[in-house]
Amino acid sequence: MASLAEVKAFRGEEREWEDRSWFPPGPQLAVCLSGDKNRLGDLTDAELCERMAAARRQASWAQAQELAAIAELAARRHAQDEHHDPDYRVLSARESLLEEVSVALAVTGNAAATLVHLAERLTHQLPGTQEALQAGRIDLAKARAISDATDHLPDHLCTRIEDTVLDGVEERTTGQLRGKIKRLVRRLAPAELAEQTRRTVKGRRLELWESGHGAAGLALIDIPADDAAAVHNKLTAVAHGLKQDGDARLIDQIRADLALQLLRGVPLPEAVRTPPAQAEPSTPAVPDTPGGDGDSVAEMVGHAARRRLEELRAHVEFHGRLADLPRLAARAVEELHERLAPLRDTACGHGKPGYRPPTALRRQIEARHATCVFPTCNRRSEHCDIDHTTPYGTRGTTCGCNLAPLCRRHHRTKQTQGANGAAGWRLFQPWPGVLIWITPAGTWHITLPSRQ
Ligand SMILES: [Zn+2]
Ligand SMILES: [Zn+2]
Repeated sequence: MASLAEVKAFRGEEREWEDRSWFPPGPQLAVCLSGDKNRLGDLTDAELCERMAAARRQASWAQAQELAAIAELAARRHAQDEHHDPDYRVLSARESLLEEVSVALAVTGNAAATLVHLAERLTHQLPGTQEALQAGRIDLAKARAISDATDHLPDHLCTRIEDTVLDGVEERTTGQLRGKIKRLVRRLAPAELAEQTRRTVKGRRLELWESGHGAAGLALIDIPADDAAAVHNKLTAVAHGLKQDGDARLIDQIRADLALQLLRGVPLPEAVRTPPAQAEPSTPAVPDTPGGDGDSVAEMVGHAARRRLEELRAHVEFHGRLADLPRLAARAVEELHERLAPLRDTACGHGKPGYRPPTALRRQIEARHATCVFPTCNRRSEHCDIDHTTPYGTRGTTCGCNLAPLCRRHHRTKQTQGANGAAGWRLFQPWPGVLIWITPAGTWHITLPSRQ
């Protein structure tokens, strides 16, 4: 029997992307997607739609691979955590895992925590969702929606809800999927839902973030849904009233202006009359980017370290001794540190007496690194500890070549040794301002002075 493609070829109407909706994601689909990427112009509209859907299935498949790798590393670190004394000065294996994922994917610690949580939920409570993601039936946003909505529910309810919502899930948007799960949870687990609401509301807060161009966001997060709806309805009603009286602003603008006036303590009747405060343009503080010869030396050192570590990894991979990588990588950087000693001695005088850096030196360090030197951390250096990269005392001096800003959390990361013989985190400063992190897995991240 001839295949569909053969029939089409015979009829002279073969269209590569038509009728591909059945094609599962994976290596073969990747080949199809990459094979004709330069011929998008030749495709029919219908084929373009097939192609975008195929690419999304492929992305979902890749997301499933990413989460599976995260879950596997989590299981390994978890096993190391078991006989490990809790010690407040260092990170637990789990916290250390979050930092590893954070640097591996270049995402914030919070984003890493969310990914690890999702990976573990899909592996343990929601294997059907994991399968659906892997098969491209749902995308990451939908997997996340299922996981979020069933968080804190007992396993048997997770399974039941999962089975129900995955039926026909291909046809639903993320919003529709969320609505369906919400209705199911309300029906199947009202007590758990109430408990979850109580727990969520405990984390209520007012968040402020810079949204760029001198504007900012300000939001009440995780407050009771009824309260939120009541406030929103009230603002909307007043806004519509003003609009009817001829206010030229958009409803969104009126609501935002009203909320701001009220939060500033202007009572409602007056808040309605007060024209919107004109935003005073404020100049955001831009840290001076350190320039000059010192930085090009730092770049050269960073470059040399990277090349050396890459060679080392190739060598270790070739000999199949990847388990030795953390130790060998640390030793390679130590050697580089030693080799640069004479140059460092010439470049800086060292000799600052005392453990605590004088204010002027602290300012220099803060100017060199605007943030904590952990690769994914954005904590401003003014709010950081000034850490002695090599501990103060026998070898470590209080000098620009041995100091760097570390926030509390990443100070603890640095001090975290692996449990049960596993490798920990290592931090080196072979050149003033060049910080090299070796992770427990033996990967590395190099922070240069001009990072900001
Ligand atoms: Zn020095
Ligand atoms: Zn940090």
